[in-house]
Amino acid sequence: MATPWITNVRNTKTLTVYNGVGGGHWANIFGIALSEFNTFAKPVGIKAVKTGDEDAANIVMRLGDGVVKYEYDKTKYERNFSGTALHGLTRALSRDGVIEKAFIFLPARPQVTVFDNKGNAHDVMASQGVMKVIAVHELIHASCLDEMSDHGGDGIFYYPMAYNQMGKVYVPEINKNQTPLPPIRPDSSITGKMAALW
Ligand SMILES: [Zn+2]
Repeated sequence: MATPWITNVRNTKTLTVYNGVGGGHWANIFGIALSEFNTFAKPVGIKAVKTGDEDAANIVMRLGDGVVKYEYDKTKYERNFSGTALHGLTRALSRDGVIEKAFIFLPARPQVTVFDNKGNAHDVMASQGVMKVIAVHELIHASCLDEMSDHGGDGIFYYPMAYNQMGKVYVPEINKNQTPLPPIRPDSSITGKMAALW
């Protein structure tokens, strides 16, 4: 079930996000993902902004590969997480029915399968476009739609996406919009659900 943020965050209509992704594959994606999220979330009336203060940040974004660890209010947590998937992991920590802090883990080395001209399969790093889709998807989770059951029926908030061999992902379900992402298209069914929680 979706969960609203704590009132003092909701009042600001702003989510502060700490950039813990470091300097590797994901280095460029952080700023692009916030900007894309803000465009997507415009109908909700909220925005995500970068902060350098990890403790005070509403959302902490990091990479994960294997076991991921996070800590909030003296409690330590641990989860298994694949560093090669095309999906991140978001844990929204809530108390009294409202989110107080969220952690996003992005797959440290997201892999896609490509085929050479002899038809042999190889696993290679996903494109920056795919990484952008993964990061925006997780920001939507952290913004309030924090459960698997909150996923949308199509587009950016569908799960799980498939790789299309052109550096993009798409919704594999039949009879769905097969248009590749990115670009990240508007989705009023998702922003409508978000707006109800803000
Ligand atoms: Zn998801």
